[in-house]
Amino acid sequence: MIEVKNLSLEIQKAPILRGVNFTIEDHEILGIVGPSGSGKSMTIKSLMGLLPEGSQVSGQVYDGKKEVDIGNFKPFESDTRFCILPQDSMNGLNPYEKLGKQMIKCRKMYGLSQDKASVQELFLELGLPGDEEFLNRYPSSLSGGMRQRVAIALCLAMEPKVLIADEPTTSLDPINQLKFLDHLRDVHKNHGTTLIVISHNIALVSYIANRILVLSQGQVVEEGDSRAILDHPQAPASKEIVYGARELYGGLE
Ligand code: ADP
Ligand code: MG
Repeated sequence: MIEVKNLSLEIQKAPILRGVNFTIEDHEILGIVGPSGSGKSMTIKSLMGLLPEGSQVSGQVYDGKKEVDIGNFKPFESDTRFCILPQDSMNGLNPYEKLGKQMIKCRKMYGLSQDKASVQELFLELGLPGDEEFLNRYPSSLSGGMRQRVAIALCLAMEPKVLIADEPTTSLDPINQLKFLDHLRDVHKNHGTTLIVISHNIALVSYIANRILVLSQGQVVEEGDSRAILDHPQAPASKEIVYGARELYGGLE
């Protein structure tokens, strides 16, 4: 369990996050939704220490053992180990390096075994070819959907405890969006990885997440079971995104 307490952020003196509180339970699938600009990405960037210049962050993180100021939280230690899936999968892949080599390098960086078989296994698990020819390919030779699966494999290569997907499907068509979420669900099932799926689209997030946080203007305005929020949104911002999704998807039955 990881508890984020009273997370506040200012960028160039402008308030961005205002006392955000939430927990991430072990092995759960947590969704974070909210309109564009509500602070979803900044919440994650605060945890990962990836804030832009001019940021002032405060708050605490309790990792189940000890509480630290958010600025001292280490997301890459063996018992926290966060991994973010890049929004555009191409950003996470090195275009000049063979797929197999990228995977091995990633494992090396985290002090994990560097045998080829474990890399092949991850590719196969994600429905990619695990043969020598595939290991020797470069990212540019892959379709968008395959690239995204390689990006997942690259995350898994570091054996993360928490995998974060921030607006992961924006560049995919609707069928591939669902396929992608199915892959994430398999990862969750096979590895017990905690997932955080972030999107402005509550229909998409509730396809996979059990519990949802709704952010609005830098605050958590609602939190609960995803079905309950879809059926009976309480906060004005939740109503807005749920009604928007219902209009778009015709009822979400
Ligand atoms: P979301 O991911 O929910 O769409 P963000 O967390 O990216 O929203 O942004 C939250 C707020 O922070 C927005 O008002 C945005 O304008 C502001 N913001 C984002 N990035 C920067 C930055 N580099 N410098 C200053 N303000 C930023
Ligand atoms: Mg964002």
